[in-house]
Amino acid sequence: MIEKPIPYGRQHITAEDIEAVISTLQSDYLTQGPKIKEFEEAFASYVGARYAVAVNNATAGLHLAAKAFGVKPGDKVIVTPMTFAASANCIRYCGGEVVFCDVDQDTYLMDIEKLKALLAASPKGTYKGIVPVDFAGYPVDLEAFRAVADEYGLWILEDACHAPGGYFIDSKGKKQYCGSGLAEASVFSFHPVKHIATGEGGMVTTNRKDVYDSLCLYRTHGITKDPGRLEENHGGWYYEMQELGFNYRITDFQAALGISQLRRADAGLDRRQQIARTYNEAFAPISGIRTPYVAENIYHAYHLYIIQVADRLGLYNYLHENKIYAQVHYVPLHLMPYYRQLGNKKGDLPVVEAYYEHCLSLPMYPTLTDEEQQYVIEKVIEFVTRR
Ligand SMILES: *Cc1c(COP(=O)(O)O)cnc(C)c1O
Repeated sequence: MIEKPIPYGRQHITAEDIEAVISTLQSDYLTQGPKIKEFEEAFASYVGARYAVAVNNATAGLHLAAKAFGVKPGDKVIVTPMTFAASANCIRYCGGEVVFCDVDQDTYLMDIEKLKALLAASPKGTYKGIVPVDFAGYPVDLEAFRAVADEYGLWILEDACHAPGGYFIDSKGKKQYCGSGLAEASVFSFHPVKHIATGEGGMVTTNRKDVYDSLCLYRTHGITKDPGRLEENHGGWYYEMQELGFNYRITDFQAALGISQLRRADAGLDRRQQIARTYNEAFAPISGIRTPYVAENIYHAYHLYIIQVADRLGLYNYLHENKIYAQVHYVPLHLMPYYRQLGNKKGDLPVVEAYYEHCLSLPMYPTLTDEEQQYVIEKVIEFVTRR
């Protein structure tokens, strides 16, 4: 037996991280200080984007992006059903209508062929945008999606919460990092189960100055003090609330933690890759386990390591009995009572529904030890090959 339970994901906090937070707590700023800008600049350069806007969580970031794109009641937006609820909810916050597009059977990402079919079935202008997700850490081929979006005049909101540091090699042989600007905006989460942890926190990246300006405005109540943007100016104290915005700011001590965590991001990715290789090798000879598909041109960020097995409920229960807290990602979003009530139903999206019947996320995080991983492998194989 193992000493302590093994979760599917967890944060890694070092003495350096703690030091960074403490020194910010002792500084002049707890919020709206210099650490936020520093974190934004470091993150933008990490993913290769021109601008980054730090926010209090990724859900807020998705909402800000939807506001920046001008989503309004009745606007139709196409979203993948294999994601966390926030990817679609941000459209609903603005009164938009969510239309789900089924996933690819290998990658579980939004299926571009089904997307094209959906778009071709309605007059141009019916849809305003798409929300693809780099599900599990598998980067969306945004070169291909960009071409489709441009043909139909759509914006792309990339939910990159699973994939900081992930990239694909495009048709010209160039690395295209998640969040590097092929989408109008990309959103990252710093929730503790994600790659970089700040408690709560998120980041929106973009290459578009107009989108960046809107994100900044909506992040702080719709208020600006920028002399170049004011309609009037009564003196040094003067500011204007120009839009109905929100308070979606992050604190300086969270940004300090984020900066410190970001320095280890690549090491964390290396370790995730290594853990995936070990799982892949161990499960390759076992016919009852389907391991993740990864195309040649993909650098997978492995937020999740997902297998498929015939008796998923049985394996889930067996692992939990053995203190391995495997998890299911996700119940398809169109089957949630809230989205059913809006007209979606079982049978609408057969590929994602079949995937959901068999998927299980095994422990995947940089501090998972080799011994712990071997224990997980042993228990999975024990269950799958039992008779
Ligand atoms: C975690 C997650 C979110 C939400 O992130 P928060 O920071 O918790 O708001 C959104 N989308 C996806 C795909 C996620 O995994």
